[in-house]
Amino acid sequence: MTGTRYWLPTQSAPATSSASAPSSGAFDVEAVRRDFPQLHREVNGHPLIWLDNGATTFKPRQVTEAVGEHYARDASNVHRGAHTLAKQATQVYEEGREEAAKLLGTRDTGEVVFVRGTTEAVNLVAQSWGRANLGVGDEILVSAAEHHSNLVPWQLIAKERRARVVPIPLLPDGQLDQDAYRDLLNNKTKLVALTHASNVLGTVPPVAQMTALAHRWGARVLVDGAQAVSHFPVDVTELDADFYAFSGHKVFAPTGIGVLFGKREILEAMPPWQGGGNMIDSVSFEKTSYAPLPHRLEAGTGHIAGVAGLRAALRYLGTLNRKTATEYEEQLTAYATSALSTVPGLRLLGTAPGKIGVLTFLLADAEPTHLAGLLDQQGIAVRAGHHCAQPALAAYGVTSAVRASLAMYNTVEDVDTLVAALHEAVDA
Ligand code: PLP
Repeated sequence: MTGTRYWLPTQSAPATSSASAPSSGAFDVEAVRRDFPQLHREVNGHPLIWLDNGATTFKPRQVTEAVGEHYARDASNVHRGAHTLAKQATQVYEEGREEAAKLLGTRDTGEVVFVRGTTEAVNLVAQSWGRANLGVGDEILVSAAEHHSNLVPWQLIAKERRARVVPIPLLPDGQLDQDAYRDLLNNKTKLVALTHASNVLGTVPPVAQMTALAHRWGARVLVDGAQAVSHFPVDVTELDADFYAFSGHKVFAPTGIGVLFGKREILEAMPPWQGGGNMIDSVSFEKTSYAPLPHRLEAGTGHIAGVAGLRAALRYLGTLNRKTATEYEEQLTAYATSALSTVPGLRLLGTAPGKIGVLTFLLADAEPTHLAGLLDQQGIAVRAGHHCAQPALAAYGVTSAVRASLAMYNTVEDVDTLVAALHEAVDA
């Protein structure tokens, strides 16, 4: 890729090469944008500015084509039947698993379990590992920055096992309080549930360091990567995470498909959490034995078209230079943070160094849902509400806020349009 990095307002350079060409130089946002048709539609008579990437990301045409082709031409079930289409579908499915393994930095596809998304991944671990490993008085440390999907499953299993969920508090800028964390760890700690990037504050905690500390106490660590995987490269081996979860739809793939990574020896020791087809070796009324990993944890027919889309999305990401994409997003986040600070009365929640492009804010006494409605009338899509992270907002004494969340295909113009609209809202 030869395009110049040109997010700065003073710079401009036409994109000269396709985003799907191997990338060597700086990140060419216009080339990437051309691959995402939905970015080019209008909403309420205005060009759409999509700043709700934290909720879901758009799909490149490579993904919609892969899903369309599956249903139009290649539909079949997998892992069964001796016919050609079943073999082809199985190949696509397992290649999707290989792509997910590559994305996460493991070579062992047995460690990659397909699930519906991050929520199902956490519930799988809570219901299977949690039920087998938690007992009376055991503690699960959960950061106060977690999405409800990395908190409520722990509350459910803790209640059943008479264990305790203990919050890891936040510092005022949205970082996790590392001194408090060190003090909270003890020999009753069995699991630490940590986000790799907060969906409401943008915080990226020092996961490798926190995992190493947890391991000293013999605790397992589950990392919620829902907001991380689209923003920066991830390596579960470097993190030494015991479990890592993400949702396809937040990394340019379809909804309804996601991944749970688990270390082989831990997954091997976990009982199946659901029973049915695909996950068995042999079945009789006397004795049932289970298939090897990862199928043992994948009962029933999976989301085959979703995996075809996930494979396409991860291959698409593989054609980009992730390092320059991450740098671009970092610069855009810095630009947006500084631009938002010019809006009178705007209070940004979450200012931790190294945060991802999640910009959650309050504007004077404007009601967040009302403000989001005003922006929507101008084609600017942001989210308002509690963002499924009520404890994180509670740490700031609020129950609702507006969130603009960036992806690699957003531009400085998107940010400028948002900021101009906010200035107008203040002046109105
Ligand atoms: N974790 C985080 C940090 C999220 O942002 C989300 C979704 O917004 C989830 C988990 C849940 O993801 P899903 O609804 O795809 O299971």
